[in-house]
Amino acid sequence: MSRISTDIAVIGGGVIGLAIALRLRADGREVVVIEPNEPGSGASYGNAGTIADYAVIPVGTPAVLRNLPSLLLNARSPLSIRASALPTLFPWLARFAYESLPHRFRENTRRIAELVSDASAAWEEFAAEIGASDLLSAKGCLYLYETPKAFKAAATDIDLRRFHGVGQELLSADEVHRLEPRLPPFEGGGLFFPGALNLSDPGEAMHRLTATVRWAGVQFVKASAQTIAREANGIRIIAGPFDIRAQTAIISAGAHSQRLAAQIDDPVSLDTERGYHIEFDMTHPPIERPVCPTALGFYLCPMRGRLRVAGLVELGGLGVPANQRLLAALVENSRRVFPDLGEPSRTWLGFRPSMPNSVPVIRPSRGGRDVILAFGHGHIGLTLAPRTARLVSAILDA
Ligand SMILES: Cc1cc2nc3c(=O)[nH]c(=O)nc-3n(C[C@H](O)[C@H](O)[C@H](O)COP(=O)(O)OP(=O)(O)OC[C@H]3O[C@@H](n4cnc5c(N)ncnc54)[C@H](O)[C@@H]3O)c2cc1C
Repeated sequence: MSRISTDIAVIGGGVIGLAIALRLRADGREVVVIEPNEPGSGASYGNAGTIADYAVIPVGTPAVLRNLPSLLLNARSPLSIRASALPTLFPWLARFAYESLPHRFRENTRRIAELVSDASAAWEEFAAEIGASDLLSAKGCLYLYETPKAFKAAATDIDLRRFHGVGQELLSADEVHRLEPRLPPFEGGGLFFPGALNLSDPGEAMHRLTATVRWAGVQFVKASAQTIAREANGIRIIAGPFDIRAQTAIISAGAHSQRLAAQIDDPVSLDTERGYHIEFDMTHPPIERPVCPTALGFYLCPMRGRLRVAGLVELGGLGVPANQRLLAALVENSRRVFPDLGEPSRTWLGFRPSMPNSVPVIRPSRGGRDVILAFGHGHIGLTLAPRTARLVSAILDA
């Protein structure tokens, strides 16, 4: 076995682990990142690229709870569940139902709002640090409503965002048309979030982040962490042929973090919301900014050389292959917005690391601050990466 000793071992090199590694290295610490795959190639690669300073509403809301059976069972719903996964998912679903009750929903919203409040400013600084400012666009983000009734149904969310100080502008159908003239009419109008940013190429942003982390002097260990344990003189991690000893370990393995946290006696209710994307190669995407037709459950995202359509939520665990029916529905529904899209150039399945309350876990482990948990960012991990890194740094400094 090759033995490695370090001050900090970061387990998982997605956007969260990489941002943490960069921050802790800037704090003057010795850092090793343990990652079996190309860094940044998990959920952090395939997302919608939005820096969503407005995304304060958790997935579990009283309305979602009321409609859960029809949402899960309706074949056209953007939320679906694999029947085979039901027994394993049951504890997570039960917790999700509890977290969707009005008092929990309000508290979860408050906590998420606090986390995302400075996301755009934090990302502008972060993008400059990793040489990715050219990939960051500041044209806001747009929600679309097919009917006035659908817009009206969003009133509670709109009020709640206003309460939490989120910048949002209510647009008529004509105003939506002026902003994005190539969209078909959306009679219910739209909601514009002017403070949101978006990445024109999340994969390229991850390459540049990884290069910056390497350049800063962080060592990468290409292996999967199998075990983590507390020993007399620190934390011991076995990762393939590597025996790694660290003063502090950070668990940031995204949707794969639960098993590692359980090994240090800190069980967490983490599961995955599987998400999909399809891409249509084109020189000039037909929209200027990420656009979400809310009833369809995905974002249409203008990216470099392509239009990416990313979203959906499938509860079904980490083990089963992509659901071809959902991918076909994604293609069909994309063509409801832009009928001339043709066949997608590629498809992708990824695993959001999801807590039942949509609030990420960023804290010392129950056994002590020699292990720090940083996962469970669900739909907003890209948005929250710089903030998470700062929080982890503060935990270590405390
Ligand atoms: C369709 C879709 C759209 C999305 N859109 C957005 C968006 O617009 N804005 C936004 O903010 N967020 C978005 N998200 C969410 C965001 O992508 C995730 O929250 C974020 O990427 C999570 O980052 P992570 O580093 O925790 O996980 P990941 O990127 O998945 O990284 C985890 C890493 O850990 C590694 N790993 C796993 N097990 C081990 C182990 N045992 N040892 C070592 N390493 C291990 C994996 O190989 C992986 O590289 C979206 C997600 C999806 C699926």
